[in-house]
Amino acid sequence: MKIGFIGLGNMGAPMAANLAKAGHEVTGFDVAGTTAEGAAVAESIDAAAKDMDVVITMLPNGPILRDVAVQIIPLMSGGACFIDCSTVDVDSARAVAEDAEAAGLLAVDAPVSGGIGGASGGTLTFMAGGSAQAFAKAAPLFEIMGQKAVHCGAAGAGQAAKICNNMILGATMIATCEAFALADKLGLERQKMFDVVSTSSGYSWSMNAYCPAPGVGPQSPADNDYKPGFAAELMLKDLGLSQQAAEAADADTPMGQLALSLYKSFVEDEGGKGRDFSAMLPRFVARGRE
Ligand code: NAD
Repeated sequence: MKIGFIGLGNMGAPMAANLAKAGHEVTGFDVAGTTAEGAAVAESIDAAAKDMDVVITMLPNGPILRDVAVQIIPLMSGGACFIDCSTVDVDSARAVAEDAEAAGLLAVDAPVSGGIGGASGGTLTFMAGGSAQAFAKAAPLFEIMGQKAVHCGAAGAGQAAKICNNMILGATMIATCEAFALADKLGLERQKMFDVVSTSSGYSWSMNAYCPAPGVGPQSPADNDYKPGFAAELMLKDLGLSQQAAEAADADTPMGQLALSLYKSFVEDEGGKGRDFSAMLPRFVARGRE
């Protein structure tokens, strides 16, 4: 397929490179001038959108996605597929899909889980929203860039799944970190805490697969001085999106709200920017009750 790839950052560049490696004709564009291995470089955004079978975007946020969509939708050929893999608000995802479909295009919102390692290794999980026809066209590409793709429903359903998942992740990481800090103060060894919780009803991905305590459990960013991994500011972004969606949908999400305010303080006032989101553990350890 002829694929335009717009947004060649930490995630987009390796994803585009994997598509090129699999034999697709990939043309990439990024305002910052970054490139992807094996992909031709478009001089302008137009050249990455015109005459393509598929255009994929991997951009920082909803306003930028909307801006890019306005530029490329009129240039794309009828029947081509617009796949947005960025994490954005549900409203932006739905608005872009609506505009694309009105212009005779297929549209899929397909945010990913798996981080930079998953993007380079081709092991991402895609959660997709859009018509069955659009998903069918995108699926072979998801297979190259990832190991699993779930068709979650109509336009916006992929973004809805992503922010619900990450709201759970933010809250469980905080719960795991505060429990470790409490265990420390109670004189309970961290390894014993892990041995019990990872096989008891308090287990979660945060504890079992991404343990925030250095030297305990499988290798994780905690073992690398909390270098991301998944940066605290990206978790803050996703928690902002879930609260924005909760407000719009009139859903009561107090744990998500509290996780948002804790990550906001962590990133903005407590040195959390640029650290992994599991660095909440040293933050809790350094504090007492206020
Ligand atoms: P990034 O900042 O490294 O990359 C974004 C790229 O988009 C940048 O290179 C930037 O120059 C480019 N860009 C911005 N405006 C543009 C425009 N108008 N036209 C063309 N290019 C433009 O971010 P990233 O880490 O690659 O993340 C991309 C998306 O994936 C985000 O929505 C993020 O939330 C999501 N995501 C990231 C991770 C992760 O671990 N990094 C994991 C899952 C999802």
